[in-house]
Amino acid sequence: MDIDMTNEALHVLDQKHYLPTFKRYPIALERGSGSKVWDVEGKEYIDALAGIAVSNIGHSHQALTFAIADQASKLIHTSNFYVTPPQMDLVTRLTELSGLDRVFMANSGAEAVEGAIKIARKYAAKNGRGGTIITMKNAFHGRTLATIAATGKEGMLNGFDPITPGFAHVEFNNIDQVEALIDDSIAGIMLEVVQGEGGVNLVDADYLRHLRALCDQHKMVLILDEVQCGLGRTGKMFAYEHYHAKPDIVTLAKGLAGGVPIGAVLAREHVAQAIDWGDHGTTFGGNPLACRAAIAVIEVINQEGLLDAAMNTGAHIKEQLNQARAQYPEILEVRGLGLMIGVQLSIDAKEVVNRMLEHGVLSNATANNVIRLVPPLNIAPEDVERLLSVLLLSIKEISAHG
Ligand code: PLP
Repeated sequence: MDIDMTNEALHVLDQKHYLPTFKRYPIALERGSGSKVWDVEGKEYIDALAGIAVSNIGHSHQALTFAIADQASKLIHTSNFYVTPPQMDLVTRLTELSGLDRVFMANSGAEAVEGAIKIARKYAAKNGRGGTIITMKNAFHGRTLATIAATGKEGMLNGFDPITPGFAHVEFNNIDQVEALIDDSIAGIMLEVVQGEGGVNLVDADYLRHLRALCDQHKMVLILDEVQCGLGRTGKMFAYEHYHAKPDIVTLAKGLAGGVPIGAVLAREHVAQAIDWGDHGTTFGGNPLACRAAIAVIEVINQEGLLDAAMNTGAHIKEQLNQARAQYPEILEVRGLGLMIGVQLSIDAKEVVNRMLEHGVLSNATANNVIRLVPPLNIAPEDVERLLSVLLLSIKEISAHG
């Protein structure tokens, strides 16, 4: 079928045929290279969103495209009735990197979180505890029925009754609210080390330590959802390494395979052992294509020093934006870890993002006027400077109009 390849024509098709759930920006993207992408009409953009923290090694990285093409020519898929070399290679690496013992491969972040919830509940059931999981306000854990309930945000739940039970929500970083809920009905506690959708909010180190101690004391599981902050995004493979915390279960997805759909649940041995034969499964999860892509991403992160790059570039961006605050009072706060940065504005962040797009930079506005910057970890220095100047220019322009 021949389709008209203009931005506008593709949007007409979107309006007509796609489920009306996404509010799209008025462009259609066709290709990418490094930290840049191009729309179908040839306009160039710096990608400071990276597919929402997915393209951690940039677009069209040679090592990744080679790995995908090579694996596609060998074996794209088999079922989980069989192990494959890429799957075993990847799970070995993930256990070594995380210090956790077992892995289940999934297809997405939400599926990884579902897996984590199931493992936690099964472990709780075997230990005579109920299955309720404590989760945080301002969290985001996905869009399936259980993960919207875990997230608990009203706007995501409206119209989807009956809401899956078994989640209790507390204020992020408020230990008293957690302690008040602990009894035999609680299976575990789940949180993001850095809340992404919630506005790039960092967990407090003492709070995390306290949660670990509570979980140890009551035989509950500590689940860290690293779907967004994991795999190098914060300057460490796992964001929890910044806190010297050891979770019982960790979820990964977004950045893990550089854009090939993937998810992973990692668990400590004693918790993982709660799962019996046939308790969980997936058709696509852990297929050789996705696993091979993930291996390539991990190798690139290590070989190209992208953890240090994330730390250094992130520190530079934060420093520049903090310095700019003297001239731009609209910037209320700059926060984040590594290359997961939130810029809290006093003006409408969505309008700023739209203006940045017009100036050739992709970014995103999240919770309460926060601009989220999650570019590839290897974003080129000149692209960083352009991103910063476009962000400040856009703030100035929107402010002038307000
Ligand atoms: N968990 C976290 C922390 C996320 O940021 C996301 C997605 O943004 C998810 C889970 C859900 O991942 P997915 O969209 O791949 O299902």
